[in-house]
Amino acid sequence: PSASAQAGRKGGRLVVLSGPTAVGKGTVEARLLERHPEVWVSVSATTRAPRPGETDGVDYHFMTEEQFLAGERAGEFLETAVVHGMAHYGTPLKPVLEHLAAGVPTLLEIDLQGARRVRERARELGLDVVYVFIAPPSFDELKRRLTGRGTETPEQQARRLETAKVELAAEPEFDVVIVNDTVDRAADELWGVIAAEYGLAD
Ligand code: 5GP
Repeated sequence: PSASAQAGRKGGRLVVLSGPTAVGKGTVEARLLERHPEVWVSVSATTRAPRPGETDGVDYHFMTEEQFLAGERAGEFLETAVVHGMAHYGTPLKPVLEHLAAGVPTLLEIDLQGARRVRERARELGLDVVYVFIAPPSFDELKRRLTGRGTETPEQQARRLETAKVELAAEPEFDVVIVNDTVDRAADELWGVIAAEYGLAD
C-alpha cells in the first residue's frame, strides 16, 4: 500500500471543517486549539495579502500567484480553490499525510469547494475523512457576522453573502453539523468529534 493509504489507517480520520463564509470556522478552530493544542491544524497557502496581525507560516503561507500556481502544477496541494473569486487557497498535501501517519489529530479548515475537492480525491489518496459543517444559528445572524467584520468593502461583503447563501445549502453533504451558537459550545462539540475519532479522552 502507498504511504498515504497507510496514513489513512493509522490513528483517526482526517477532520475537514467547512461551512459558509463568516460562520466563524476560524474562531471555533482557534478556541479548540487553545484547549487542545495536541490537535494539528493544517496551514494553508494563499495568494491574498496578510491582514494586520497575521504571520507568514503561522496563519497562512503567503504566496505570489506565480508561486501558488507552480505548487499546484507540481502536485503539492491536497486541494485548492479560488475563494470569493479573488484569491487562491490551498492545503499543502505532504504535512497532512505526515501528521496522519504519525497518528496526530489532523484538522483542515477550508471552504466548501475545497471540502468537495477532498471528497473527490480521498479514495485516490487513501484518505479516510470525516466532514464537519459549521452552521450559523440563523441566516440573519450570519448576515450580521458577515457585515460586522469590517475588514472588507461593501462589494466584497455582498459577494461573500451571495456565496454564503449557496454554501448553506450544502449542509446535507456533511457527516456532522455543528451549530455555532456560542464559540465555546461549538469548540467543545468539535473536540467531541476529534476525541471520538482518535480515541482520546473527553
Ligand atoms: P480568509 O481569507 O478569511 O482567511 O479565508 C477565506 C476562506 O478561505 C475561508 O472560508 C476559509 O475557510 C477558506 N480557506 C482557508 N484556507 C483554505 C484552503 O487551504 N483551502 C480552501 N479550499 N479554502 C481555504
